[in-house]
Amino acid sequence: MVGMGKIARDQHVPALVGNEAFEIVAAASPHHQLDGVPNFTRIEALLEGVKDLDAVALCTPPQLRYSLARVALERGLHVLLEKPPGATLNEVAALVDLAAEKGVALFATWHSREAAGVAPARRWLEDRKVSRVTVTWKEDVRVWHPGQAWIWKAGGLGVFDPGINALSILTRILPGTLVLKDAELAVPSNCETPVTATLCLENGLGADVSMELDFLQTGQPIWDIDVETDTERLLLSKGGSVLQIGDAPPVENPDNIYPNLYARFEQLVRDRSIDVDAAPFRLVADAFMCGRRTVTEPFVE
Ligand code: NAP
Repeated sequence: MVGMGKIARDQHVPALVGNEAFEIVAAASPHHQLDGVPNFTRIEALLEGVKDLDAVALCTPPQLRYSLARVALERGLHVLLEKPPGATLNEVAALVDLAAEKGVALFATWHSREAAGVAPARRWLEDRKVSRVTVTWKEDVRVWHPGQAWIWKAGGLGVFDPGINALSILTRILPGTLVLKDAELAVPSNCETPVTATLCLENGLGADVSMELDFLQTGQPIWDIDVETDTERLLLSKGGSVLQIGDAPPVENPDNIYPNLYARFEQLVRDRSIDVDAAPFRLVADAFMCGRRTVTEPFVE
């Protein structure tokens, strides 16, 4: 395991412990350590010190993903990437090429796609015409990302760090290919990434999508995707965990997100295959490329 921060400790470790196909044999992280295994501060030292290693999970901030993944792929290791899969689109393409050349598995995870309501939503939408989608993705950065200075640095995505989760669901459940029509990004004067954003997209099949992303929400977070169709309306809430169709009561099945991701990774490793869908990341790149920027008041944690 590389990068023993919040998501590694909260989700990756329990998911790996619960999957008999994997054994955590070592960790590399500058400050945090994982009990019960040899710990290193750098991936290079880990790869030097642990011989019978098959795979690495990279759970660092995205700005480091590419260089760490390259080191692991060069050694012939299978690699799991936390989202987003890199800091630029070309980094991701280069990693795919390298994994293919080495004949190893590469998995770009999108954890929100494993939320319990997402697969049934996709199946239900297959038979319907979507006219309008409204995405509201608002959370308090001070609560959900305390002290994560990397989010405010170039490549850290700012409010698109959670916003890309919504895009990963949209690109999974909607037919057609989403393209960006318009975007507006508000960047605090002391930061390099946006704190709020509004996006308009379309799928080429008659669906207009509007997104409102906000990192300054206080109180309860809102992670909702509201889909109007030619029949009923579909609402995915709580980040994809709760699904409501028409007037039926909301359905909330237990999420099995990280166990599902590692089950998929196990299969990819066995097949030595690559699962890298850059579609959510491309839309973020388009918003950064074509979005209008405004400068707002400084962000103070
Ligand atoms: P985080 O708490 O800031 O953890 C990142 C960790 O990376 C830090 O703890 C740091 O370790 C480690 N690190 C920094 N430089 C390193 C290096 N050169 N080698 C190895 N490790 C290094 O961030 P996070 O919330 O876990 O997020 C990490 C990634 O997971 C992000 O891309 C994020 O989008 C994604 N993610 C996060 C969540 C979530 O709910 N937080 C959910 C899904 C996905 P030290 O502390 O030891 O210095």
